[in-house]
Amino acid sequence: MARLGSSSFAVTQLGRRCFWNLGPNDFYEYVRSYVKTKAELDKEAFANPATNYYDKEVRDKVRSCERCSHTYKLAPDGLCRDACNYHPGELYRNQKDRRYRYTCCNRSKSASNPGCVRQPTHGFVSTNNAVGSHPVVLAIDCEMCLTKLGSECTRVSVVDKDCKTVYESLVWTEEPILNYVTQYSGITEDILNKGPTKSLKQVQDDLLQILRPDTIVIGHSIANDLKALKMHHDALVETAIIFKRGHRWPSLREVALEHLNKVIQDKGNEGHDSAEDAITCILLMKHVVASS
Ligand SMILES: [Zn+2]
Ligand SMILES: [Zn+2]
Repeated sequence: MARLGSSSFAVTQLGRRCFWNLGPNDFYEYVRSYVKTKAELDKEAFANPATNYYDKEVRDKVRSCERCSHTYKLAPDGLCRDACNYHPGELYRNQKDRRYRYTCCNRSKSASNPGCVRQPTHGFVSTNNAVGSHPVVLAIDCEMCLTKLGSECTRVSVVDKDCKTVYESLVWTEEPILNYVTQYSGITEDILNKGPTKSLKQVQDDLLQILRPDTIVIGHSIANDLKALKMHHDALVETAIIFKRGHRWPSLREVALEHLNKVIQDKGNEGHDSAEDAITCILLMKHVVASS
């Protein structure tokens, strides 16, 4: 992915030009006034695609949770409804009482001790459980490919307020890929196989190291990205709402052209570039700050 470097450089230059010298906290505080809660986003008829790819065979498949190892099935909407309790740590043999205990909470292994961390559902993780503070502004964008489960994440990019990539990974899908939709995703079988490509669980664990409840995440149709990442996060800034025209949500490409005079997603058959899209979200919020 050599093309990432050159495109990041070009837009960073643009970012410097359209953004005044605000301190890191100033930008955070400013962007914070645009944060919408999940409930507010839902109220804006937030992208919750009605399209349902889940056929019966996929839905009724018994899945095993990678975190708690319990089995579960998906509800008709393709989501899981059961909470997941698990131990993030490892089992070790305690020298004093000779019992097996978890490194995370030091509790012993037993059926009555289901887990010291609770996630909303099997497979889904929430940053609400993350301890500590990381008050920064990040932008996230995912590329997706089509499987029987719908759009599954195959690449994720996270950039900071300086448009620097803080996280980037290719991701294996849970179900086999039916269509790479390369013209949009930029992903091919070759790219995923060449890697390095991580499981979604590894990517979630990595992101849980970066995101805290007070980390502001900017995105364009960010609900789709979070759904693909199977993540809950509350401090969200939705650029599609900020640049909304009437009731219509404009595409990121339209908004970038109109407000940044920047052409994105122009690689034709090479598809989109999630790093470029995430950088564009940051630049759009800088544009909002600069023009206020
Ligand atoms: Zn679980
Ligand atoms: Zn534990």
